[in-house]
Amino acid sequence: MSAPVYLDYAATTPVDPRVAEVMSRYLTMDGIFANPASRSHMLGWQAEQAVESARRQVADLIGADPREIVWTSGATEADNLALTGFMRANRARGRHLVTSIIEHKAVVDTAAALEDEGFEVTWLRPDRQGRITPAQLREAMRDDTVLVSLMAVNNELGVIHDLAALAEEAHAGGAVFHTDAAQAVGRMPLDVARLGIDLMSLSGHKAYGPKGIGALYVRRSPDLRLEALIHGGGHERGMRSGTLATHQIAGMGEAFALAAAEGEDDQARITALRDRLLAGFDDLEGIHRNTAVEASVPNILNLAFEGVEGESLLMALRDVALSTGSACNSASVEPSYVLKGIGLPRPLALASLRFSFGRFTTEADIDRTLDALRHALDGLRRRAV
Ligand SMILES: *Cc1c(COP(=O)(O)O)cnc(C)c1O
Repeated sequence: MSAPVYLDYAATTPVDPRVAEVMSRYLTMDGIFANPASRSHMLGWQAEQAVESARRQVADLIGADPREIVWTSGATEADNLALTGFMRANRARGRHLVTSIIEHKAVVDTAAALEDEGFEVTWLRPDRQGRITPAQLREAMRDDTVLVSLMAVNNELGVIHDLAALAEEAHAGGAVFHTDAAQAVGRMPLDVARLGIDLMSLSGHKAYGPKGIGALYVRRSPDLRLEALIHGGGHERGMRSGTLATHQIAGMGEAFALAAAEGEDDQARITALRDRLLAGFDDLEGIHRNTAVEASVPNILNLAFEGVEGESLLMALRDVALSTGSACNSASVEPSYVLKGIGLPRPLALASLRFSFGRFTTEADIDRTLDALRHALDGLRRRAV
């Protein structure tokens, strides 16, 4: 039996072999393994240099200054630091935060925890495509709004937000704009100055880097104040203590440099693959597009298959690795909160699958998936009649 086709890149990507090679230089005795905070010897300086060079690679991808990059354990921690760190540090200015009901759980659960702490949250509801309009945001702004958090690319739908317009509204209302860009790296241009972004969460493993590493972009001018969540040692300008994971950081740096160099080519190829999959469905009845293809990144395609259950379809599709809803709630059979959030009826939400592609997806993978899907749908629909 051959390995399953991997179409779950939105859950995580494999590490690019070029990234793995770079990471291997920072682990063993014959590599650069020392603590990057060790100032008393050459080995420490070399590790620090590796960290700083990776910081520049990440900063370059988003048009930032390296001093604006704070390393974290992933986008989850970056979201926690952005929301909790900012709201706590600025509570004297205001206690109101605006976000949406279809953010990643790292934002949704953090905002809910802030409500328990006494902050106030306005939860915006997206349109059928999964987008929040600038007018909606304007409506939600209050005198005491200090932060707006809206994601760049939704991880279940692939829909892209108009960050420049949303950031402008946030600023017009006197608030700071945070975006979770974990799914956007290498998939769209992400210039923080052009888009007007003040805080941006990034993840290594959604962009062919390793798991367990991420970063928060924190604008320096005007200087944003964040309260640290993790104390001890004062690393990362006091915003995030802990010994820096040199190998993870070097890997994320290399992955982001590759995204800068190859992201556009990747996306052109992936668009063709996505269109090949869509074309393969042309003659099939009852397939509903949850993803608004024109407004989305090409590597995520969420489809509902009328009259079947996503879970049963997934079982029948053992040769293809993909998700119903998002990987984070694949343990339960409740419809995904994102699909519910865009108003998809429950039976359709339960009949939905997320196909997500990436750098190593081939035409043969798409064709195998189409064959497997036709076969599975045939069987399931026949049984249902
Ligand atoms: C994967 C993901 C996260 C979590 O990132 P980790 O690095 O795994 O913590 C946050 N937000 C979005 C949109 C994601 O897709």
